[in-house]
Amino acid sequence: MKILRKCAFSTYHDLFRRDGTGRAWRFLEESQWWDADQLEEYQHEKLAKLLRHAYNNVPYYRKIFQEAWILESELENPGCLKRLPLLDKSIIRVNYRDLCVDNISQYQTNESSTSGSTGESLFFLVDETNGAYRRTSTFRNFGWCGISPFDRQVLLWDARFDEPPQKTVSDRLKLGARPVLFLSFYDLSEAMMANYIKRLQAFRPKLFVSYPSPMEHFAEYCIDQDLRIPSLKAVICSAEQLFEHQREIIKKAFDVPVFNRYGCREFADVAQECDEHNGLHVNVERVYVEIIDEDGEPCPPGKLGELVITDLDNYAMPFIRYRIGDMAAWGERDCPCGRGLPLLDRVEGRSFDLIKTKSGRYLSGTFWTLLLRHISQDIVALQVRQDNIAGVEILLKMPSGQLSHESEQLLRRKIAEKAPDLEVHIKYVDHIPLTKSGKRRFVVSDL
Ligand SMILES: [Zn+2]
Repeated sequence: MKILRKCAFSTYHDLFRRDGTGRAWRFLEESQWWDADQLEEYQHEKLAKLLRHAYNNVPYYRKIFQEAWILESELENPGCLKRLPLLDKSIIRVNYRDLCVDNISQYQTNESSTSGSTGESLFFLVDETNGAYRRTSTFRNFGWCGISPFDRQVLLWDARFDEPPQKTVSDRLKLGARPVLFLSFYDLSEAMMANYIKRLQAFRPKLFVSYPSPMEHFAEYCIDQDLRIPSLKAVICSAEQLFEHQREIIKKAFDVPVFNRYGCREFADVAQECDEHNGLHVNVERVYVEIIDEDGEPCPPGKLGELVITDLDNYAMPFIRYRIGDMAAWGERDCPCGRGLPLLDRVEGRSFDLIKTKSGRYLSGTFWTLLLRHISQDIVALQVRQDNIAGVEILLKMPSGQLSHESEQLLRRKIAEKAPDLEVHIKYVDHIPLTKSGKRRFVVSDL
């Protein structure tokens, strides 16, 4: 049955979508079982091709390669990557145009944006022309949870911004024929969760995907009310760090395995656990991951270091050696599942707090960054702080000084729509304070 579904999926894409997804799917299903050496060889070839492309066609990298004294003939050697400076959000913001390929009009692109765990907003281009592996690795990761691309899934997510249109048959087909129910996590009041449970029980999803903190909150409600979703086979937690106590609560509520996934808007799904839950397998066919120490040297397995990622498929706006802002460590053992994909032992740094209101509403970190991004593109950093249930303080760092009167009114109105009883204090700052551990968090709750 599983094989039939896989064939149906690639045939559907080969015949109707013709977007390379069918071919990428067949490739990724096979390559995950290659040994580590074969995967590394494949990855190095892909990396060299990307570097040659950037060297010849992307103004920013032409300059950077020259400054690093790297010759075109050296690009075959992955070791040359270490001589390139790291890329970060502030560099991308300043060099946005120069980071785009010369003949950008010949690429199919989507503009996307992110706030990341530090709250600094960033706009960038996703290359859809070469996006088949990005789209398909998500389906491969579903397979590790025993879920096929046709299975019903529910996303408890930022539905207002991420929900693709599903009004027409064509819209549904674009989703890969899979039925998806989108639920927004902006309002997780008890009344809304009771409504969600009814919809979930009627929809009968096999897969539930969400951020750990709203999922934990929803799971606690289900345990309290003794509510179940009998159709469910797996839960994927993504976009924030998954803590073990959260995994236990979610498992207890739904009685299914919980899979940790590491992804971000810049690269989509980077790594995920298989059913051995032994660490997160990196999708190395499409991302080149480095973990480095303070001196820029690679960390040995088990040692926590800074995560630096190169997207092997974004030719429109190459991300080479990008500091995502998270910390990770390589796994120290191979996975018993037999996949050659290397393991991340853990990823740290993506911990967002929920803001709570007196009336029992919950606003996640994502609500704030998406909201503030829509209010003004001039906000370069932000922090939302809560030390009492009555209200929040929003710290904004802006080159232009302050929000316009209209923007501030709009901001207050949008917050009032979601949380009418939350007092909002806006403060303009030159620096966003660090946490005690030296990290910059963008939602800090001291409740
Ligand atoms: Zn495994």
